[in-house]
Formats: sequence, structure tokens, C-alpha cells
Amino acid sequence: MKCRLMPAIDRFETFSPASSFAPGSSSVKHCHGQAEINESENKSFVGVVVMKDARNMLRIFNLLPLLALVLGLMLVSARAQEAGNAAGVAELPEVLAVRVSSTDVRARLVVDLEEVSAFSFVSLADPMAIAVDVRVKGLKIEEGGFPVGDGMISSYNLEQLGADRVRTTLFLSAPMQVQQAYVLEPFDEQPARLVVDLIAETPQAFFERAAQDLANTEKGGGETAPEHPSSEPGTTLVAAETRPLILIDPGHGGNDGGAETPNGIQEKTITLAFARKLQELLIATGRFDVALSRDGDRFVLLEQRVQLARDNKADLFISIHADTFEDPAIRGASVYTRDEQATDVLDKVLAEQENKVDLLAGYELPEAEPAVVNILVDLMRREMRRQSFIAASFIVDQLKPSVRVRRFPLRRADFFVLQSPDVPSILLELGFLSNAADAENLISPRWRDRAAEAVARGIAQYFGQ
Ligand SMILES: [Zn+2]
Repeated sequence: MKCRLMPAIDRFETFSPASSFAPGSSSVKHCHGQAEINESENKSFVGVVVMKDARNMLRIFNLLPLLALVLGLMLVSARAQEAGNAAGVAELPEVLAVRVSSTDVRARLVVDLEEVSAFSFVSLADPMAIAVDVRVKGLKIEEGGFPVGDGMISSYNLEQLGADRVRTTLFLSAPMQVQQAYVLEPFDEQPARLVVDLIAETPQAFFERAAQDLANTEKGGGETAPEHPSSEPGTTLVAAETRPLILIDPGHGGNDGGAETPNGIQEKTITLAFARKLQELLIATGRFDVALSRDGDRFVLLEQRVQLARDNKADLFISIHADTFEDPAIRGASVYTRDEQATDVLDKVLAEQENKVDLLAGYELPEAEPAVVNILVDLMRREMRRQSFIAASFIVDQLKPSVRVRRFPLRRADFFVLQSPDVPSILLELGFLSNAADAENLISPRWRDRAAEAVARGIAQYFGQ
């Protein structure tokens, strides 16, 4: 039998706290379904993506701080990996399930695992595909080819490659690249998970990367050190100058405690703890300025919360809540945007013509007539609603694999705080204090970290589109 050389899987490196990129030093050949891993095999799986071409270096550089969010998980994964190496293949987990979803612009692969494990991926030119490998001892589901149908992924193939590797090959109907990939620990009713998000890219960039992957394999040593991203002139400066402002609004406060658990833990405490964690994560990315509408246990009027977002020209307003519901069975996170039809409160806010003119200050309309102003305000409002919906969609998309969400997690309602005509605004219901399982999660720092990381990823995706 003939052994076919497959592109190397060497773009995964252990994340260094100093953010320096260690060049890849391993390659993998797949021969008769067997994986041969060269000496430095401990590096072959674990870690964070490093792209080789400059354009993608820049993209990944932008994502780097975000990737730092999952550093903790990666370290857990690395430890599991070391343990696996010591104890042998028998100790590796198995794949429980694989799901692929795809639209005209995005796609996602989710691999359910018994335990966290290492992963890697590679671009293939003929046929156009992205292969994702997970270090596992086998599958609890059937191998084979599966149609996906709609969107950018036509089908996928699932197969065991050797004793310690399962490969999912995603066949693309258009060029795509991995936008982000991360491993989640088991939590709640969810198993461990590998999540890989894909977005469109140009054919040229795709085929360049595929050729590079193949070249790396043929070379075997993987000696090509990526250019350090900071050598891109002005990158940091530009990023700093254009940093979006996120205003996080922890619901309730002071005399207004909000909802309450049976043992007396108040919503206002939960929302503030979550807001602080989310602020910390977003600031750590270096990509955002982040403010809180209250940083303490104090009462803030709803109007003041809205006004804070508008006065500071926030780029995103995100209100945090954890309410109760009559039905204790209702549980899970959801994200609200304002109901499209509910214009009455907004009209009240815009009652004074001066407000409208202020609002349009950036539009250079020295002699704007009221009718024209109204039309423009209406257009602006519609655009903000559209932006709010897009932001909410990204956040829901990231919450889904991480925490329990409601059956229809993307929702609309007439929340007062979502009325800014000039600030994309969303309301995040973390869960329901009226549900015992949710209440337990809502006071758990581990759940909070996990949910906040998902929301931070969603926000980063919204601003990175
Ligand atoms: Zn509330």
C-alpha cells in the first residue's frame, strides 16, 4: 500500500504567557490510517493557533488577548495531555458526538468529548477542506461521511486515524478559515467540548495556507518561525486609538435588590459580580474600554443607565439580569433586543427637537428640517436595532456551547434600558433565580467565569466582523 503524505499539523503551539510564538517543531504523517508523530510529539497537539502568513498573523494577533481567556482551559488540557502521555493511549477520552452547522458566512464544529483533550487542524486544497484532529482513543459514534447541506460546508467525514487520533474533515463549498478554536471543560449537563468556529476567507489566502501546510509536512521539521506580530508597524497604536467602549450595566442595586433566591441571595449581587468579571475579561484583551453603570451596591435610575451609554457614546450597552419567572421549570440564559414595534418610549425620549439635533451632530445637516431629522433618526434607530440584533446573535452563538440557554435564546422585549437610538443595546438574562439549577449556577464562580468568557468571545466577534 502506498503511503500518502498529509499536510502537517504543526500550527498548534503551547501558549506562552509572554505572548511569544515558539515555532512549530513537529509534523504528522498519516500512513494507512496510522499517525506517526516525530520526537517532539508533546508539542504536536496542545495549544493555541498560530497562522503562518502575515495577514492571518495580524488577525490572530488581534485575537491573541481573547485567546488568553481560554489559557486556563488550555493549561488544563495540557495537563490532561501530559497525563495521557504518561499513562498511554488507554487513558485518552473518546468522542461522544460531533455536530456541524453552517450558514452562508459562518460554520461551527462541536466535538463532544468524555474529557478535555488536545486538538489541531489543517487546511487541505484538493478537495477544499479543513481537517480537525482530536487526541482521543476512539469514537462512541459511527465513522463515515455525513451531508450538511446548506451553507459553506457541504459535508463532513469522521474517521479514526491511528490509535490516538480522530479526524473530522469539513468539506468546504467556499474558502474558509478557522476564526477561533477552544476546549471547554465538562459542566452542568454538558460534556467536555471542542468548539471550532470558521469564517469565510479569500481563495488566495486559503490556497496559500493549504500550500504552506503541505510544505511544512514535506519539510518535516516545521522550522518556519512565524514573524512576530508586533513587527506589524502601528498595529498596537491603531488598535488603541479605535478601541470601542463597552458599557456594562449590572441590573438593580441599592434598595432595589431585584430577584432573590430562596436563601436570600439577591440579583443585584449576582449581576455586579458578573459585570465585574466580564469587564476584567474584556479589558484583558486590550481591545476595549469598559465601564460599569454602577460599581458598587447603589441605586441607579433606568434613565440614568441609558443616559450614561448615550453621553459616553458607548459602542455597546449590555445590561445584566437574572430574574425570576412564574414557572420554576424555565431555565437557561437568553439575550434580548428591544421589540421593533415598541416605539412609544423611544418617542418620549426623543420628544425634544434639540435631542434629535444633538443626535445628528455628526451628520452635518446645518439646516435640517424637522421632517428630514425625523427620517434620519428613524434610520439611525433602525440601524442601532440591527446592530443590537447582530451583537445579540454573536453572544448567543458563543453562549450556546458553553452554558445552558433557553429554547429560543435570542429574544425581543420592550425593556426600558434598551431604548437608546444611538447605542446598540442588549439585555442578557443570565438565567432564572426561580429555577433551582440556574440559581446554583448563578452563584457559582466557575459558572460565572465560563458564561463571562462566552459573552466576551461574542462581543469580540461582534466587533471583529
Ligand atoms: Zn433584573
